[in-house]
Amino acid sequence: MLDAVVVGAGPNGLTAAVELARRGFSVAVFEARDTVGGGARTEELTLPGFRHDPCSAAHPLGVNSPAFRAMPLDRYGLEWLHPELPMAHPFRDGSAAVLARSVAETAASFGPRDAGAYRRLIDPFLTRWDTLLHDFMSLPLSALPRDPVTLARFGLVGLPPSTLLMRRFRDERARTLFAGLVAHVIAPLGGLATSAVGLVFALAAHARGWPVARGGSQSLSDALAAYLQDLGGAIHTDYEVKRLDDLPPARAYVFDTSPTALARIAGLGGYYAGFRYGPGVFKIDYALDGPVPWTAPEARRAGTVQVGGDSAEIGAALRAVSREGRAPERPFLITVQPGVADPTRAPEGKHVFWAYGHVPHGWTGDLTDAVERQLERFAPGFRDRVLARATAGPPELAARNANYVGGDIASGAASGLQLLLRPKLSLFPYTTPHPAVFVCSSATPPGPGVHGMPGHNAAKAVWRRLRQEP
Ligand SMILES: Cc1cc2nc3c(=O)[nH]c(=O)nc-3n(C[C@H](O)[C@H](O)[C@H](O)COP(=O)(O)OP(=O)(O)OC[C@H]3O[C@@H](n4cnc5c(N)ncnc54)[C@H](O)[C@@H]3O)c2cc1C
Repeated sequence: MLDAVVVGAGPNGLTAAVELARRGFSVAVFEARDTVGGGARTEELTLPGFRHDPCSAAHPLGVNSPAFRAMPLDRYGLEWLHPELPMAHPFRDGSAAVLARSVAETAASFGPRDAGAYRRLIDPFLTRWDTLLHDFMSLPLSALPRDPVTLARFGLVGLPPSTLLMRRFRDERARTLFAGLVAHVIAPLGGLATSAVGLVFALAAHARGWPVARGGSQSLSDALAAYLQDLGGAIHTDYEVKRLDDLPPARAYVFDTSPTALARIAGLGGYYAGFRYGPGVFKIDYALDGPVPWTAPEARRAGTVQVGGDSAEIGAALRAVSREGRAPERPFLITVQPGVADPTRAPEGKHVFWAYGHVPHGWTGDLTDAVERQLERFAPGFRDRVLARATAGPPELAARNANYVGGDIASGAASGLQLLLRPKLSLFPYTTPHPAVFVCSSATPPGPGVHGMPGHNAAKAVWRRLRQEP
């Protein structure tokens, strides 16, 4: 009998498996696809020699993750490559606000009226960042907070809606960049705790940057898998789990899946019936004949570029998909150009480029034209550089990965109380009514992104249970 079986080899499944194997438990992972990685993969999606990340590409949460930082992943081939600027947000006048490593440079890009307000917002948390992130990512209390005072102060600033926090800024440059940061979780700007979302991304940039992984996000997954195998763990790919009986006998079953799939596979009935899925995304991977011709010079030096005219336009795009059930005419875009830091992704002089916009849950239309019209506003001539494109809307994303129900890349709406308390209102989100069944996917706290913390926290719940048993 194995100690633990993990279903799904995404970043959280692999992290949970590693954490258990490091503590001497026997572990096997079963993955539906033919390679490990889930949302951290790399594939030649368009033309030979163009290595695309179909899902995650920028890793502010990965490089800052307390779980990944405690593992020797560099020895297994993971190398973070830092663009000159973590992120830029270009404007129509050819200028840009930037999220730089330096707080001063970032503040300066907002203009003199908001520079001080930004420094006053960021500085108190940046000095306590490592402890704060550890405490924040361990909520709801899988570990006692190391610095409860700073965590409480962060709660006071982070729990209110981002629309309130943005009132600290007098000009549109800071507001727009901050609105874009909040939009990474696809939640309306006025939602609970959306200030915390924007703050975490900004603090992550100042602390350790927003790198890409050399060779693509697959190298993170491959490093986790190689480390797991060195620790004695086994990995079985091409193995879709449909029932618990498909798995070998084990003392614990840990699911890196959606709550819906888990309930079906483990026979939990309506236990997660209240779980809500959120809007989807429409993703385009481009092979380009050269770099993106951004008008703003700063955008040419940034790994990630947010595209959205101003905070009102971003808010309207989020409302359209979350509340009005329609695709926005001017979608807010998150784009990543790994080639500014990693020359290995495309043949010499060519580039891979990645963009997605938000669409309603399960949307079946084609957003390509709206995405490219939006890009042309800030990078005229973009379309002329396109050699090939691979598009994926909600149905294709869900077919690629069962966790992206209706194209929801967060595996569950990251809005309202469910942003913090997922997949149920519970102090023990990683356990289920079945004593041997646990959940570790991004449907659990601290939620979406490639950082492995749901896997780390879930593993802790598993090893505590296993150690209690004879
Ligand atoms: C287009 C896109 C862009 C993104 N960009 C970023 C980004 O830049 N930065 C970032 O940090 N995050 C990004 N994300 C989010 C990130 O990829 C996810 O939050 C993260 O991968 C979640 O990890 P996970 O381990 O919980 O699940 P997943 O990565 O989804 O992995 C789940 C795994 O379980 C497998 N599985 C599911 N059901 C079964 C079953 N029944 N049997 C066997 N195996 C099963 C799946 O095949 C998959 O491999 C992006 C996601 C998408 C889709």
